[in-house]
Amino acid sequence: MVDKRIGNVRILGYSIAGEETAIAVPELNVAFDPGRAPAEIIPLDNLCVSHGHMDHAAGIAYYLSQRGFLGIAPGRVIIHRGLAQHVQRLMGVWADLEGHHSPGLIEGVAGGDEIALRRNLVLRIFDVVHCAGALGFAVVEKRHKLKSEFADHTGPQLVELKKKGVDIHHHIEAPLVAYCGDTAVGDFLDLPSVRNAEVLLLECTFFAAEHVSRARAGRHIHVRDLPVILRRLNNPNVVLTHLTRRTGMREAKVALRNCLSAADLERVTILMDRPPYRPRHPRGRSLGEDHKPPPA
Ligand SMILES: [Zn+2]
Repeated sequence: MVDKRIGNVRILGYSIAGEETAIAVPELNVAFDPGRAPAEIIPLDNLCVSHGHMDHAAGIAYYLSQRGFLGIAPGRVIIHRGLAQHVQRLMGVWADLEGHHSPGLIEGVAGGDEIALRRNLVLRIFDVVHCAGALGFAVVEKRHKLKSEFADHTGPQLVELKKKGVDIHHHIEAPLVAYCGDTAVGDFLDLPSVRNAEVLLLECTFFAAEHVSRARAGRHIHVRDLPVILRRLNNPNVVLTHLTRRTGMREAKVALRNCLSAADLERVTILMDRPPYRPRHPRGRSLGEDHKPPPA
């Protein structure tokens, strides 16, 4: 898993096409897709599942079961209502296999729905362009600011106005994170909660010139689509997920640089781009191999 702070949001995630996609946003108590249910998603109470493909959805049962095992309250799985019944059936089969039931709320939703996550925080659901039941999710904070004409009112005066049914607040929406699952380019990119999110998690599976037809056939985004997409978006941070194993990270970054303007490159990162792994004790310097005490 990579662990990155992007804008004001900490993202823990892993996303490689066909292999696994699991993204945890601990501060919002939300995970986007369980992948194979890495430990980082288990404590999060809301698991949004973008679609039924195995690389995104395999860990649903394990997520629910691990929460029971660790004594955490049952989780909530948010998935397209056309797929929810299959998850219920899957949990039934696991109950038969294990001899006991793993509790959890399987909440069927559809594009256009909005559900509460906590006070002033909602999950907005939208349709994306991939397979049957494919969804995206945006976490939106609802803020209330006192209207300027009431700024000099006392507390009791404001209470009085509220009692009379006067709306003393401006209602502002701040989309914090949007996740588009797997998708081709679609109208959802124009939704305010998507295009204005502080962090947009957007798939970009293919980067090689010879993979354009693969992108179209599988309903995925190709790096060539990005310049036009980015013109539609206001997001200060666009994080690309679902990179194919067919293209190496270095090659993908070259393709990005060739495609995007300097200003767009500032906004865009690839989720799985990270410094190369360096072992803590380089070879030959580990405690086991180096018996000499360090110089005083
Ligand atoms: Zn897929």
